[in-house]
Amino acid sequence: MELTGNLILGNCCPRGGGNGFYADEPSQDCPLAPEFFAADAADVDRACQLAEQAFDAYRALPLSTRADFLTRIGENILALGECLIIRAMQETGLPRGRIEGERARTVGQLAMFAAVVRRGEFLQAIVEEALPERKPLPRPDLRQCHIPLGPVAVFGASNFPLAFSVAGGDSASALAAGCPIVVKAHPSHPGTSELVGRAIQQAAQQLALPEGVFSLLHGGGHEVGEQLVTHPLIQAVGFTGSRAGGLALLALAQRRTVPVPFYAEMSSINPQILLPAALANRSTELATRFVDSLTLGVGQFCTSPGLVLALEGKALTQFCQHLTATLAKAPAATMLSRGIWQAWRDKAAGLAAVDGVSLLAQGQPAQSANQGQASVLYTDGAHFLAEPRLSEEVFGPTSLVVGFDDDAQLQQAIRALEGQLTLTLHVDEADHPLAQTLLPTLERRAGRLLVNGFPTGVDVGYAMVHGGPFPATSDARSTSVGAGAIARFLRPVCYQDFPDALLPAALRQEAAIPVQRY
Ligand code: NAP
Repeated sequence: MELTGNLILGNCCPRGGGNGFYADEPSQDCPLAPEFFAADAADVDRACQLAEQAFDAYRALPLSTRADFLTRIGENILALGECLIIRAMQETGLPRGRIEGERARTVGQLAMFAAVVRRGEFLQAIVEEALPERKPLPRPDLRQCHIPLGPVAVFGASNFPLAFSVAGGDSASALAAGCPIVVKAHPSHPGTSELVGRAIQQAAQQLALPEGVFSLLHGGGHEVGEQLVTHPLIQAVGFTGSRAGGLALLALAQRRTVPVPFYAEMSSINPQILLPAALANRSTELATRFVDSLTLGVGQFCTSPGLVLALEGKALTQFCQHLTATLAKAPAATMLSRGIWQAWRDKAAGLAAVDGVSLLAQGQPAQSANQGQASVLYTDGAHFLAEPRLSEEVFGPTSLVVGFDDDAQLQQAIRALEGQLTLTLHVDEADHPLAQTLLPTLERRAGRLLVNGFPTGVDVGYAMVHGGPFPATSDARSTSVGAGAIARFLRPVCYQDFPDALLPAALRQEAAIPVQRY
């Protein structure tokens, strides 16, 4: 399929009215044809108007049609075949295995949301039948279910060109909820975005869905994102990216005349807490697994382990020695874009220059442009506690090991941590009493707690939480991965004393979906 560089506005694919720009091929450090054209304000408005026009018709469709739409998107993505794989590899520098795995995850995610929609539990239907004889007052007939919020803006993430981009988790969950979407393609993979966008457009046309259920906008600067978030017809936003970008757009969403929910997944360093018995018994194994997790995807995962906390001593020394020997063999690899490479290089250098921080270990040097050479730094508990910069995300293959004097200093550091997507305890049985004392604090700091695992690799399921207190996300009550992500785009409505014929299908007597009765 040939790329056009155009936008997708409902059924049309016009050239954007804004500036032209090119994708880059990070491994070659050169631009990639064709030229893409950013949307202008009129294009953004058109996409939002189309989404609003589609909303009532789309949400009124049978749930089975909505589920079929999600499944069909997955089928159409698979049908793109090699052209999608090759373009995504070129635009991101990610290897074939990773892109193919991500495609499978994307299609699986769409299938999961199709199953969620068919089950109907997400509507959270509740029936409290009237109690006319109740004293002192009769109870009215009260029925509740959830309805979609309206058109949703989705910002594709740079680090998941398929699974968290145009047809990724935010898009799938919003469409499953019954919301039309307007996607802002990430400027570092516009070609991948166009291909996937056309797979969605085609699925909507094959099922004769309302035209504006999906639009795709390109933008090579901040204007398009700003216009989208502030457009009065947009009712919610899903975002994955930097803390600075997320906060700038969150502020815009909150300053609107009618503020809307803004779900940003931004920044997390995913601390690994090595408790004494586990470290003493398994220092070598822990070091190997840590290096594997840190270097996976050149450290460009939101769940990459950016911090290791442990007590000073012989076991930590052994861990560090093995880590150093293992990391020395890790090859450098191409990062997602020149911008991300530069940001990583500058932040890693800034961290290394902090007082009390030393270089512990390094991977193999870069062989070509935009490659990240993995590194691990070391500091002690006192310096860590004194310098908040040491707790900030360095997006890429860099991590920090901190050695503490005693349990009290370790606990102080854990209490001082910012909100995280994940926190991991490495424990053996003798560590359970200390782990028990840490758990209340850990629960307050993260959305997912792991024992003896590494957080890279986020399973897409019903119990998954990929969220957490700020700055991991802008709303700790939500998850952006897994079935629970649909709840971000729904709100409850109560129907009092409605005749059966006027109730939404989910609340009628013959409704086939699960209902809670009180
Ligand atoms: P980003 O710069 O935040 O960009 C994400 C999206 O938001 C892009 O579409 C970008 O498009 C738009 N955007 C950014 N700032 C904006 C603003 N002020 N106003 C309007 N729109 C804005 O993130 P990125 O390009 O993916 O990566 C940059 C850094 O983000 C990385 O180095 C890393 O630190 C972090 N990151 C974190 C995660 C994570 O999961 N925690 C994931 C990816 C990246 P425009 O540039 O066209 O405006």
